[in-house]
Amino acid sequence: MERIIIDRDASVAIEEYLEYRRIVGDDDGGRLFVPEEYEEYKRKVLPARLRNRLYVSCGVPGGIDCKLIGPETPCFCSHRYKQHQTDFEQVPEERPLALPCRVRGCRCASYLYVLQSGPQAARCRCKHSAQDHSEAPGHLCGKCSTCTGFHSPYTCGCGQPSSAHQTLVETREEREGRGRPVGRDVPYAAMGGLTGFSSLADGYLRLDPSGTGAHMPALGSRFEEACSVQTSDGAGSSGAECVEDWRSREDRDMAFFERRYQERLKMEKAAKQKASSSKAKTRSERSHRK
Ligand SMILES: [Zn+2]
Ligand SMILES: [Zn+2]
Ligand SMILES: [Zn+2]
Ligand SMILES: [Zn+2]
Ligand SMILES: [Zn+2]
Repeated sequence: MERIIIDRDASVAIEEYLEYRRIVGDDDGGRLFVPEEYEEYKRKVLPARLRNRLYVSCGVPGGIDCKLIGPETPCFCSHRYKQHQTDFEQVPEERPLALPCRVRGCRCASYLYVLQSGPQAARCRCKHSAQDHSEAPGHLCGKCSTCTGFHSPYTCGCGQPSSAHQTLVETREEREGRGRPVGRDVPYAAMGGLTGFSSLADGYLRLDPSGTGAHMPALGSRFEEACSVQTSDGAGSSGAECVEDWRSREDRDMAFFERRYQERLKMEKAAKQKASSSKAKTRSERSHRK
C-alpha cells in the first residue's frame, strides 16, 4: 500500500493530514496510524459513527438553536466538545443524554455549553467566573459559600435569559422530529450540531433558523460584530484571549468543512453528469439497434 505523505503535493498531504485528524481525533493516542491501521479504524468506527451521530445545540426549548456546537466549542469544564465522549456503539436510552468529558481527572459528567457573547468570560450571579466553579454536577463555586451553583445573568441575543437555555443532545430521528436540519453524513468525529457550514455562528446572528447556512457570505462581519458586543455587567476581561482563541478555532473548523462540502458537491455533480450522459449514450445505442 502506498504511504500517505510521500511523493505528493505538499498541499494534498496537508489536506490528507487534516482529514485524518478530523476522522481519528485523539483516538490514535498521539501516534499516527500507519495506513493499514487507519483503514482498520475507519472500518471499525465509521459505521456506528454515521448511524449514531448525535446533534448538540443550545437553545430555549421550542425556540431556535441559539448555538450549534462544533468540535472546538468549549464546555463548562473548559475542555472542548471533541474531548467528550461523542461516539457510541449504541446510543443510550436515557434522556437527557450525558456526554462525559474524557480528559483524565476532569469530573465533567456531561457536555454543557455556557452562553456568552464577545470576549468576556461568562460569570455567575455570585460574580465569580465559570472556571471558579466545579465542573462536577452541581457546579458549586470554589470561591464563595453563598453560590448555589453556577447561574449566569447573561441574556442571550434571542432575548431569553441564559437560565432558560438547555444544551440539547439528540439523535438524528429526534432532531428531524423537531423539524431541524440533520445535514449530510460525514465521517468526522465530534461534529455536534454542525450541519450547514455557517452553523457555528450564533442562531440569532445567522438569522436563519434552519442551520443550512444561507448567510455564509455575511458571516465574517457578523462574527466581528458579535465579538465586539460588551456585556452589561462589565466583568473583567481575563477570559478574552481564551475566547478569541476558540472563536478562531471554530472559524478554522468552518473553513475546513465548507471546503470539503464544496468539493463533495462538485464531485456529486460530475458523477451525476457522467451517469446521465452514459444513460443517454445507452439509450441512443439502444435506439440505433432497433
Ligand atoms: Zn472536561
Ligand atoms: Zn465538559
Ligand atoms: Zn456562582
Ligand atoms: Zn462564587
Ligand atoms: Zn438564546
